[in-house]
Amino acid sequence: MPAADPGAPAADDGLVADEHRALLRAAERLLDGVDRALGSLDDGSYGTCEVCGTSVDDRDLEEDPVLMRCPQHRGPRRE
Ligand SMILES: [Zn+2]
Repeated sequence: MPAADPGAPAADDGLVADEHRALLRAAERLLDGVDRALGSLDDGSYGTCEVCGTSVDDRDLEEDPVLMRCPQHRGPRRE
């Protein structure tokens, strides 16, 4: 493999910026989820649906510890 070309086309920068923005959005969603989960731990509602108060399955919480909704109110995952 040749060394990376320092004169690589600038078009690549756009792609990298897009990837960075996507990562940033994913990180922000994660932080938002952690924030809300911590808040629910504080007020004692952790593990219950934020919409209807139904308890969320432990196995679902193991998969996604910041899950804040029961299956009925979860809906399709937002991307
Ligand atoms: Zn619910």
